[in-house]
Amino acid sequence: MRSDRPAPYLSRRTLLAIGGAAGLAACTPDNGESPEQTPAQQSIPAPAPEGEGAPPTAEEPETEQAEEADDDAPASEASWDPDSTYVLVNKRNPLEPADHVPSDLRELDIFQHYEGQQLREEAAGALEELFAAAAEEGHALAVTTAYRDYEHQFALYDSWYWEHGQEWTDARSARPGYSEHQTGLAVDILTEDSHPDELLESFGGMPEGEWVAEHAHEFGFIIRYPEGAEDITGYQYEPWHLRYLGVEAAAEVFEEGVTLEEHWDQPPAPDYEYDYLEDPAVDR
Ligand SMILES: [Zn+2]
Repeated sequence: MRSDRPAPYLSRRTLLAIGGAAGLAACTPDNGESPEQTPAQQSIPAPAPEGEGAPPTAEEPETEQAEEADDDAPASEASWDPDSTYVLVNKRNPLEPADHVPSDLRELDIFQHYEGQQLREEAAGALEELFAAAAEEGHALAVTTAYRDYEHQFALYDSWYWEHGQEWTDARSARPGYSEHQTGLAVDILTEDSHPDELLESFGGMPEGEWVAEHAHEFGFIIRYPEGAEDITGYQYEPWHLRYLGVEAAAEVFEEGVTLEEHWDQPPAPDYEYDYLEDPAVDR
């Protein structure tokens, strides 16, 4: 890692300050504990419109530039397989199982405010390419947090819950099992010189943030929580939170200018279905 900052210990006070200052919902930070890693293993489920034994279609060019007019089928559809690149995670769709751990996590080889951050193999490579392309344009980006495991999210949410109650905590932290960060496909980024404990909405208006919004899809990422879509995504505008989908699917979402829920024809997820203490997805 090029970061020369020590991985910080986030005190309770710091965490409270972060949540309070930035009003973050999905993006409470992590101190980078490494879960068990297994050798990289590509699992890129693609929608399979035809069965294995189906006859090959004659005139279908297998290029990424294939015109949408030639093929109306979207590049992706929502999945509830936690290993799928297209897994849908929001306030109405927890991971199943809630304590799922991706099998192909690896550490990122780019600048990080908190060292040891991990993503799934394919997303990690794509993010490194995105950072390199940004650097060529003079934009120095930094990862704040990427993968976060169930236990971390549980510890954070649960302690806040008992101290501040459900409404306060739901506004600042995803519940365990409901964080997109647990998929290994989501990452929070800022500029290299941003204060690492802050996730600034103003990132969206910075040259770096504008570049990311314009180009992330070329590397397979979308801005998961766009401005003004809280009633659909359940989260306020988070210009720093990227979700990996792969190039084709991300390009479609970008071109349509919609949320992932809308792109996949899924119902809005403005809030949780259950009170925390009755939430069947949470294993206490
Ligand atoms: Zn995030």
